[in-house]
Amino acid sequence: MKMKILVLSGDGIGVDVTREAVRVLRHIARTYGHDLQIVESLIGGVAIREAGTPLPEETLANALAADATVMGAVGMPGYEKAAPEKRPEWGLLQLRKALCVYANLRPIRIHPSLIESSPLKNSVVEGTDMVIVRELTGGIYYGTPRGRSGVGTARRAVNTMAYTYPEIERVARMAFEIARGRRKKVTSVDKSNVLENSELWHAVVEEVAAEFPDVALDHLLVDNCAMQLILNPRRFDVLLTENLFGDILSDEGAVLAGSIGMLPSASLGDLKASGFRVGLYEPVHGSAPDIAGQEKANPLGAIGSIAIMLECSFGMKTESAAVNSAIDRILRGGVMTADLRPAGRPATTSEIGDAICAAIETRS
Ligand code: NAD
Repeated sequence: MKMKILVLSGDGIGVDVTREAVRVLRHIARTYGHDLQIVESLIGGVAIREAGTPLPEETLANALAADATVMGAVGMPGYEKAAPEKRPEWGLLQLRKALCVYANLRPIRIHPSLIESSPLKNSVVEGTDMVIVRELTGGIYYGTPRGRSGVGTARRAVNTMAYTYPEIERVARMAFEIARGRRKKVTSVDKSNVLENSELWHAVVEEVAAEFPDVALDHLLVDNCAMQLILNPRRFDVLLTENLFGDILSDEGAVLAGSIGMLPSASLGDLKASGFRVGLYEPVHGSAPDIAGQEKANPLGAIGSIAIMLECSFGMKTESAAVNSAIDRILRGGVMTADLRPAGRPATTSEIGDAICAAIETRS
């Protein structure tokens, strides 16, 4: 199969982890005889430095022309006071919007060999296996009016959390479809006791649920959900929520998995003529400037994102399973970066890439 992939390493450890993810992808293509074409472009802080904007037009055109996009992370110190459209993170928000990848899927599964890495008790995290489905192109990150005004004690700032029926309906539908292939349970998270926006969310999710009688639906308020995630994570199968709540809850979910460096994600849009969805694949973590370029970053979230891409954008279940099984096997063998608190010497970022490629090679 032909795969035309756009690679956007971005900033900080985005560069470190994407390097290893692309190595694994090349290895898979060689091993299984696929025709892989890689195009690289700029995004984020590096794009501001080299092209004056966090999302150059060429990057956007390449993303629209690619079969799938693989991203590292964006974010660089020094832009905190810049106008929103001159910040690295703006590039990613605009890319998601332009690709119309409205559903961000974040699977959270506890590898048995990482149970000791979680700060929670084994009895709490054991058996956790959920997918967070976060709405990604609407809500408060995009709503208008937004901005700051006034001076001194008259300063004020406003952001707007806005959702329309179609924005909620399409992401809810995707969550129910995913639940059908899993344990058939959707938990929808909102703040409908206070926000009108959440009242609409709640109502639309109920309407979509009526079309999926085989899938159970329950609702949680976001504050209670934040507690339940660490009190009883096994209660969740598919957790569906809006953009801001999903951003926060998925980082909390990362703690369950032992480290934020472990978590992959897929941002998906509508079906293409090929029958597969438009997809942007990136680890959940940010650019971690504190460890960038030091061979300390855990690349497994980025490598796991490649596994999801192979399945969701190309239907390559065997290849995807080969990557996931390689991740399981190296962790069982104790090969892990410092964030997972290994018993012996931590592996470097490149050593993890080496180990994954070797494990794919042996495939046993
Ligand atoms: P972060 O995820 O970059 O880092 C949080 C902590 O986790 C840090 O201590 C970091 O060292 C550690 N960490 C993160 N990924 C790791 C990995 N793969 N291996 C080992 N340790 C890892 O979040 P932050 O510090 O809040 O943000 C840093 C920058 O990243 C900011 O500019 C922020 O805007 C940006 N950011 C970007 C994205 C994205 O590109 N999708 C997401 C979140 C934050």
